[in-house]
Amino acid sequence: MTKLVKIGKSQVLATPLGFGANSVGGDNLFPNLNDQLGIQTVQTAINNGINLIDTAYAYGYGKSETLIGEAIKPFDRDKLIIATKGAQAIHNGKVSISNDPDFLKQCVYDSLKRLQTDYLDIFYIHFPDEDTPKDVAVAALQELKDQGIIKAIGVSNFSYEQLVEANQNGQIDVVEDNYSLIYRKPETQIFPYLNAHNIAFVPYFPLASGLLTGKYSHPIEFPEGDLRKNDKNFNGENFKAIVTATNSLKPIAKNHDISITELVLAWYIKNPNITVVIPGAKTPEQAKTNARSMNVAITNSEYNIIDNTFKSFL
Ligand code: NAP
Repeated sequence: MTKLVKIGKSQVLATPLGFGANSVGGDNLFPNLNDQLGIQTVQTAINNGINLIDTAYAYGYGKSETLIGEAIKPFDRDKLIIATKGAQAIHNGKVSISNDPDFLKQCVYDSLKRLQTDYLDIFYIHFPDEDTPKDVAVAALQELKDQGIIKAIGVSNFSYEQLVEANQNGQIDVVEDNYSLIYRKPETQIFPYLNAHNIAFVPYFPLASGLLTGKYSHPIEFPEGDLRKNDKNFNGENFKAIVTATNSLKPIAKNHDISITELVLAWYIKNPNITVVIPGAKTPEQAKTNARSMNVAITNSEYNIIDNTFKSFL
């Protein structure tokens, strides 16, 4: 039985590995997604012991939430942890960011409809705007939390200063930011703050969009509309360095009789600064592999070897 982890000061209990759903309905991020395959992938994740699904309005501008609403229908709602995000306003086809308190409340109500549920386990302010005081934005979410409409309050993509402003009344439960073996900026300022204030951390891009799975040896050309097309890590020296470091983990993975992906995900699960790791998956097979990493126990020495292998990417 997987040990559940607590989301900050809330009562929300999640599995240490969740499912990142930006490729379920996220047509604005990846071309040629198949909706039915997306639904099957979410259901496979749940059937393989994952309880947290991470989505956002911005993934397909409502489509990901709508598909997840369909995917979770056969399951007990109260056994699932549904995390979503909002802050994007669309006017005349143009997307802007707003943290206006009333707008954020409306985002929550709209997400509830698309997800066909009457509460959200986690709602994140997806991005900071330029003018709303961050504690005022969070106070609007606290009102919804007091009413039981959301169970935990999160922020994403906030700078350290914005996070401190947002949490001045101690109301933030969870932060979701870019963090991976190859992108470790949160370690210096963000992690010490989160640990001191009992705030959970959920890293996104944990597999560096697939680079840390060990499946690459040559750079590949992504189609137009794929968010990896202009990612510098998929080209040149960066690509070579990441692939070499990742492939050097093969002997450890072999000792455990697991894939490099499972080993890398086990590193996040053992990392004391991380609460839930949310790899994305495009197929049921990938979701199954990722779920298996919850059963992998790596030693302290293996943890340190993996950590040191990527220290130069700090
Ligand atoms: P990721 O987890 O680093 O990489 C996921 C990708 O790696 C998959 O789409 C798949 O792509 C490949 N992959 C996954 N499992 C695999 C396996 N077992 N074997 C081989 N390949 C595998 O990147 P991500 O999905 O973009 O990020 C994770 C989640 O974080 C997202 O789904 C989203 O929920 C969240 N997120 C949040 C923010 C934010 O602003 N808060 C931003 C970005 C992402 P291919 O099959 O195409 O290789």
